[in-house]
Amino acid sequence: MKVHIVGAGPSGSIAAINAARSNHDVVLSEEHSVSGIPENCSGLFSKEGLESLSSYFNYKKQVVNPIHGANIHFVDQKLSIRRKDPVGYVCNRSAIDQILVEQAESEGAKVNYNEKISGNFHSTNIIGADGPMSHVANHFSFEKIQRYATTMQATLPYKSEDPHMVEVFLSNKLFPGFFGWIIPQNHDFAEFGAGALIPNSAIEAWHNILKLKNLPYAKPRGWLIPIKSRKQTSKRHGNYNVLLVGDSAGQVKSTTGGGLIFGGNCASIAGKFFHDPLRYDLEWRLRFGPDLFAHSMVHKYLRSQSDSGLKLLGRRLKKLNCDDYLSIYGNMDRPTKMMGPQIIKHVLKNICGVS
Ligand SMILES: Cc1cc2nc3c(=O)[nH]c(=O)nc-3n(C[C@H](O)[C@H](O)[C@H](O)COP(=O)(O)OP(=O)(O)OC[C@H]3O[C@@H](n4cnc5c(N)ncnc54)[C@H](O)[C@@H]3O)c2cc1C
Repeated sequence: MKVHIVGAGPSGSIAAINAARSNHDVVLSEEHSVSGIPENCSGLFSKEGLESLSSYFNYKKQVVNPIHGANIHFVDQKLSIRRKDPVGYVCNRSAIDQILVEQAESEGAKVNYNEKISGNFHSTNIIGADGPMSHVANHFSFEKIQRYATTMQATLPYKSEDPHMVEVFLSNKLFPGFFGWIIPQNHDFAEFGAGALIPNSAIEAWHNILKLKNLPYAKPRGWLIPIKSRKQTSKRHGNYNVLLVGDSAGQVKSTTGGGLIFGGNCASIAGKFFHDPLRYDLEWRLRFGPDLFAHSMVHKYLRSQSDSGLKLLGRRLKKLNCDDYLSIYGNMDRPTKMMGPQIIKHVLKNICGVS
C-alpha cells in the first residue's frame, strides 16, 4: 500500500520508518530543504521516553546535558525534585530530526524536500505530521485545536547554580496559563523560555523571565504549542484515510508543551495503521490517552489559580513532602505511573503520621 506523510519532523519520520518496515510504499514531504531547521524546541526529553523510541534513533549520541531534576517555583515557593541519576537529557533536537529522516530514507521511504503540500497529495492514505498549524487537518476539515500557547526562547550566557537542574517558574501574572523556564545547556549557557496561553502575550512573558534574572533584553525565537489534543485525529473522507500525528493531533503534554515522546510513540502506531483510521485513534488513546488527560487536568488546575493560590499550593506540596515523593516516584511523561500503592503509603505517612 502507498502512504503519503506530510512533514518530516520527528512524528512524520517515525511514521515513515514504521510504515517502510512493514514494506509499504512511503512518500514523505517536507517543505524545507532540511529537517529540524528552524529548531523550535528546548530539546529536553525524559530518559524513559527516549528509550521508548530507541528502535528509531540512538539518543545517547545526541545528549548535550544530563538533567537530574527540576526546581519548580510556585511564585516564591520552591519545590526541588532531584534524583541521583539523570531523569532526562537535553539533546541536540535538530540532529535528532535529521537522523530520523535519514533513517526513514535508508529504510526505503522516498523523501521529497522543498515540497510544501497544499492539497497535492500523493496517495489516498495520508498522515498529517505537519505540526501545530496542520494544513492536512484544515484541508480535511478536522475540528480545530482549542488551545495554544505562544512561546519565546533563546540560549543565553548564564551560570546555573546547578547545571543539571531545570528551573520552572509558575505565575499566572508573569506567564499567564503557561510558565517560564531555564534549561541549562552546560556550565556557561542556558536556554531561557517563556510562554503564555493565547490570547495572552508571549512577548510580555519573555520580558518577565529576563527580569526575574536581571538579564538585559535578548532577541527570542517564537513558536506555537498546541495545548489540547484534537477530539478527532483520524477519519475516512471519501476515498481518503487521513490520520493526524504529533503536534498536528495535539499529542502534547499540556503541562509542559513537550511533544516529541508522545508524538513519536503515536506516530509509530500511525505508521502501522494508516489504512485503518479508527484503529489508529483507538490504539493511541488506549495507550496514551490517560496520561495526556492527566497532564491536561493538572494544567487546567494550575492555569485557574491566582498567584496567591499557586503559592499556597507550593506550600502545601512542601508540607506533604511531595518533593521527596516525586524525587523517588516522579515520571516526567506518564503521571499514571506515579499512582501506584506507594502514593497511599505516602499520604498515610504525611497526613496521618502512619509509617
Ligand atoms: C519553545 C518550544 C520548546 C519545546 N521544547 C520541547 C522539549 O523540550 N521537549 C519536547 O518533547 N517537546 C518540546 N517542544 C514541542 C516539540 O517541539 C513538538 O512537540 C515536536 O516538534 C512535534 O513534532 P512533530 O513532528 O509532530 O511536528 P514538527 O516538529 O512541527 O514537524 C512538522 C514538520 O512538518 C513540516 N511541514 C509543515 N507544513 C508542511 C506542509 N504543508 N508541507 C510539507 N511539510 C510541512 C515542517 O516544516 C516540519 O518539519 C517544544 C516546543 C516549543 C515551541
